[in-house]
Amino acid sequence: MDATAPRAPRPLGLLAELTHRCPLGCPYCSNPLALERRAGELDTAIWTRVFREAAALGVLQVHLSGGEPGARRDLAEITHAAHQAGLYTNLITSAVGISSEMFGRLAAAGLDHVQISIQDSDPAVADHIAGYKGAYARKQALAAEVVRHGIPLTVNAVMHRANIDHVGAMVALALELGAKRVEVAHVQYYGWALQNRARLMPTREQAERAMQTVARLRERVKGDDVAAEALLATALELREAVHDVALGQRSGRAWEIVAGWAQRARAAGRLVPADVVPGGAGNDTSPRAARWELDPDSDFDAPLLAVAHAMDDLLTSPSGTTVGACPGHGCGWLFTDRRRRRRWCSMAACGNREKVRRHAQRTRQAVA
Ligand code: SF4
Repeated sequence: MDATAPRAPRPLGLLAELTHRCPLGCPYCSNPLALERRAGELDTAIWTRVFREAAALGVLQVHLSGGEPGARRDLAEITHAAHQAGLYTNLITSAVGISSEMFGRLAAAGLDHVQISIQDSDPAVADHIAGYKGAYARKQALAAEVVRHGIPLTVNAVMHRANIDHVGAMVALALELGAKRVEVAHVQYYGWALQNRARLMPTREQAERAMQTVARLRERVKGDDVAAEALLATALELREAVHDVALGQRSGRAWEIVAGWAQRARAAGRLVPADVVPGGAGNDTSPRAARWELDPDSDFDAPLLAVAHAMDDLLTSPSGTTVGACPGHGCGWLFTDRRRRRRWCSMAACGNREKVRRHAQRTRQAVA
């Protein structure tokens, strides 16, 4: 070995792709088209060794990524191993598949930072792009958990042709979720993204408009922690009011708050023909004739206006859709119920858990 040769700088970060599995089907996914199967994933013991070796090489931080790292049952053990090796641990997640109970285990294992990706500021469009109904709501729920544990949150807004005109509202949503840092990143053209490039690439005008919006927002939030705190407080107030009104409250402060926001939403919105969102693996491609849109230049309260509009729709719709509260242990989720027959937020989660609980109870009683 030539002792005079320049030495490569020490690596600072390690990107640990724990799995290629993911319940979402984003058309811009940079996963390879031929995925590594579960049986081919590195196990906990190998990752533990890798983290120790990485730390010895000088690595300071590890990004626990995927696919969706929440698909790994041993994610808490892997996080603990990275923490024990002295690495700063960053979880990069879509938020789907990480329950509050699991997040508690990750926090206890030494998780230092979380990055959640968002698809759009409009819940229906976001779920459509993700190819997963309910993904938007799960992102909100996990972001709230992250903030509750006092762990810093980054929100990553992945931009492409179908959502780049909403960049302002997406940044506002990120702040309302409690993000300490917002990353506005264009799609990286690998894997599915490369396959779908023609449909994902924004026009030049779109890109220039988005850059101007981001520059304006940067200027606006520079050092403006007070405004961000006030916005968060407003969002929390609206969330509580929406909860109470959705469950039947028709007077008092909660009603006034929702009615006031709904009025503002009507004034700020316009109905546009639905865009065609490019499809990817597992995408929901159900057609929609039109969607409700805010002015792309609207201010940071755009996501609150979107929520208010959805509530307006629900309350004034003649379809008779009702809202129910899931009775699952520790759940607390609300759901819409068109046929008034629904009991659980999700049969696969709370419904099955209850079945297992009842079965265990019956078995215990039979033994006793
Ligand atoms: S880009 Fe979407 S589909 Fe791909 S791993 Fe991330 S969340 Fe999953």
